[in-house]
Amino acid sequence: MPNVFPIPAFSDNYIWVIQRDGTNHCVVVDPGDADPVLDTLSSRNLRLDAILITHHHGDHVGGVKRLLDHAEVAVYGPARESIPGMSHPLSEGDEIHLATLDLRFRILDIPGHTAGHIAYYGHDMLFCGDTLFAAGCGRLFEGTPEQMHASLQKLTRLPDTTRVYCGHEYTEANLRFARRVDPDNPDVATRLRLVEEQRAAGECTLPSSIKEERRTNPFLRPDDANVKRNAEKLSGKRLTGAVEVFAAVRRLKDAS
Ligand code: ZN
Ligand code: FE
Repeated sequence: MPNVFPIPAFSDNYIWVIQRDGTNHCVVVDPGDADPVLDTLSSRNLRLDAILITHHHGDHVGGVKRLLDHAEVAVYGPARESIPGMSHPLSEGDEIHLATLDLRFRILDIPGHTAGHIAYYGHDMLFCGDTLFAAGCGRLFEGTPEQMHASLQKLTRLPDTTRVYCGHEYTEANLRFARRVDPDNPDVATRLRLVEEQRAAGECTLPSSIKEERRTNPFLRPDDANVKRNAEKLSGKRLTGAVEVFAAVRRLKDAS
């Protein structure tokens, strides 16, 4: 199993490092900033073999150019987006083989936050950028509620045990919001208490798991009767169908 750890960047981004255990080979996911990555490579004596990108936003790609100055490596990214230095454009169904890490990832198209957003799935791990967050989801900058709902539902069909590595530390605020739209869900309350303790101790709350997200993430639960009822109450609208409930929950979060 690889060793996966976060490099914190900016105020709440995580740049994920995937290192082959017992070796100095690694790749990074979404390096928004080069400095903390270069510091980590040198302090841990790691060698960067490739860069994986989920979507085109600056806080995910801002460090790519300087990392390429440091070492010419493959840059994997979404085929439908413009990514600096991209050598391997990817979309749904593609598979990548990172030979030096002995890892394979399958590519999932998950539009909604951006139009071409992709995820990397393999070895019971999911790197999903700003689409699925722990107890939350990304804002709809370029996609429709239908698209984001379909992307999230696609991710919920991954195995329960899948570890979810997302792009930001938003878990605590997301769970406070989840408590508003899903107040009678005991799993939300339990998770919020745990996450409050983790954050008070300065710990990273990730990775999450697909099982935990299915239980506590209101954006994955628009079919739930309680989520629907509370979304109707809070938005003052009658809602029909999962996409309408999802869209209402997303709007409530945007306004919170
Ligand atoms: Zn983003
Ligand atoms: Fe981001």
